[in-house]
Amino acid sequence: MKQLLLLAFLAFMLQPASTLLAQDIPKYNPDDINIAYKKFTLPNGLRLIVHEDHKAPIVAINVWYHVGSKNEKPGKSGFAHLFEHLMFNGSENFNTDYFQALEAIGATDLNGTTNEDRTNYFQNVPVGALDQVLWLESDRMGHLLGAIDQAKLDEQRGVVQNEKRQGENQPYARGWDIMQKEMYPPHHPYGHTVIGEMEDLNAASLDDVHEWFKAYYGAANAVLVIAGDITPEAAYEKALKYFRQHPRRPNHRPARREHPRPQQRHPRFLPGPCTRRAHQHGVACAPVGHAGIRLDGPRFRRAGRRQKQPPVQEISL
Ligand SMILES: [Zn+2]
Repeated sequence: MKQLLLLAFLAFMLQPASTLLAQDIPKYNPDDINIAYKKFTLPNGLRLIVHEDHKAPIVAINVWYHVGSKNEKPGKSGFAHLFEHLMFNGSENFNTDYFQALEAIGATDLNGTTNEDRTNYFQNVPVGALDQVLWLESDRMGHLLGAIDQAKLDEQRGVVQNEKRQGENQPYARGWDIMQKEMYPPHHPYGHTVIGEMEDLNAASLDDVHEWFKAYYGAANAVLVIAGDITPEAAYEKALKYFRQHPRRPNHRPARREHPRPQQRHPRFLPGPCTRRAHQHGVACAPVGHAGIRLDGPRFRRAGRRQKQPPVQEISL
């Protein structure tokens, strides 16, 4: 009888979340999605993807680098994301804050994100500012290292560590940290979190910055995407003008994973509700309406009450 009551209780508690989940899934036919684009490859290996759309006089510019936390060395977890921060702190020919420069020319949706596999940088600007943005993106792709010193590294290390504290202060956030470490085998490139460990972030050095940039921030390891009020031919000419001088540099190295396992045993949780931060850092999260579920008992048990969607969290960059 007790077991029946328990089953009835579990069915009652889990049903609303699944109902809400089913309702939230948008219905679409993947075949209906057809975003026209043209793809080019520059002589130095930089790939360019252009989507033409003249509805408004704006362009979206994305640069994607094929590098993420899976490429981090043992004892250097969190470095891919730390490096992403450094890309906003000036380059050799424009050694000042990237955000201030872009906001002054009307940029919106301006940011960068890092996940296990890739790091990207993006902004939307009036089409008249396209040359300026391509020049800035080009400068930080090809001429970053001379602008990065110990003071900038230390400053951004502190910012990233504060983001980690903020993240861990969210409901169930520690659950994701635990789950990622427990889900993968010991030498798997995904077996540590993107945000990394505090002591590993403390260990990041200027030598690491130089090595990372030279290994992964080459033209052949990047994809430039331009979408908006421009023709593919014009976009290609501009890409040639601003990026063709950069070296190809080696393609990305295979990811390796030898980070030591933490000794401490933790209770296991599914991750908490999705937040903007979770999306920015590319981490998995439970859909709205899910509170997180303990996995460490003989049966799944709900842990705590349902959580409301937390307010959108703006993180420092
Ligand atoms: Zn960050």
